[in-house]
Amino acid sequence: MTPSVSSTSAAHPVLVVGSVALDSVETPFGKADEVLGGSGTFFSSSASHFAPVQLVGVVGDDYPVEKLAPLAERGVDLAGLEKVEGTSFRWRGRYRHDLNSAETLETHLGVFSHFRPNIPEQFRRAPFVFLANIDPRLQLQVLEQVEKPRLVACDTMNFWIESRRPELIELLKHVDLITLNDGEARQLTEHTNLVQAARWILDKGPKHVLIKKGEHGAFMFNRESVFFAPAYPLESVFDPTGAGDSFAGGFMGYLAATGDISERAMRRAVVVGSAMGSFAVEKFSNTRLLEITRADIDARVQEFRQLVAFDSELDA
Ligand code: AMP
Repeated sequence: MTPSVSSTSAAHPVLVVGSVALDSVETPFGKADEVLGGSGTFFSSSASHFAPVQLVGVVGDDYPVEKLAPLAERGVDLAGLEKVEGTSFRWRGRYRHDLNSAETLETHLGVFSHFRPNIPEQFRRAPFVFLANIDPRLQLQVLEQVEKPRLVACDTMNFWIESRRPELIELLKHVDLITLNDGEARQLTEHTNLVQAARWILDKGPKHVLIKKGEHGAFMFNRESVFFAPAYPLESVFDPTGAGDSFAGGFMGYLAATGDISERAMRRAVVVGSAMGSFAVEKFSNTRLLEITRADIDARVQEFRQLVAFDSELDA
């Protein structure tokens, strides 16, 4: 079945807790200063194409909140976004010719250092929960406040693997799925081989491990099976920032749209996630994610089908 995008009206809400940032990014193709970024922002921009999104996060009093209006218009509920005194989270990164790996030049936590997520009452029963890339201690605090979600997924990055390793390993006991890129999987598990790395993570608790390999596609490891989806072969990748969060937004949004979390649905969701990641990198910030339509997404998902369709002459 083709994973065409379902109407958001019947969809289940997705709760996301993540960073809402100002990013300054340099790529071989240009520079962007203090643009809308953050794991929660990219995730919401992507997932809102499929399902209602409930965003929880924090910004400082210097944040241009009016720039989040397009998200609200797309069905992202911002009731859980706190604005407090202080400076917003800022991330400065650079990509050289290898666009698969970001070099972090600066991480300014700002108001994130004192943030304690407070999940609004009306968000606590969301059946789909995504703990986007933030401090694992905050990710754990979110889980104490939600009521029996059907699927809890989390993301992380090198910054937290280095600074909050015990908390991250504790978190693994409480999530159904983790998404991380190949470098992060190797760093977390100390296994170079990704199959061994995935096994190590599965042994810590999650039932599914999604390892993204940038332009080389993504693996989904479960206890009994492995699935692989290629990345869309884009002719020009402009800015890879947010690809991972947009992938996760497409993946979770698609599952929430259908309410189906079978293995078959998850495989389709990996392809939808890959399609959303491919859109995110076409422009700086979340610009492209906000421009695209359902028809654009469906067309790209069809192109993924073409990408891997072949006749098996060996069977003849
Ligand atoms: P990715 O999808 O992995 O490219 O994530 C990119 C986003 O992660 C950027 O918009 C950053 O603002 C955000 N980010 C970078 N470092 C951190 C961090 N330590 N914690 C939370 N978010 C971060």
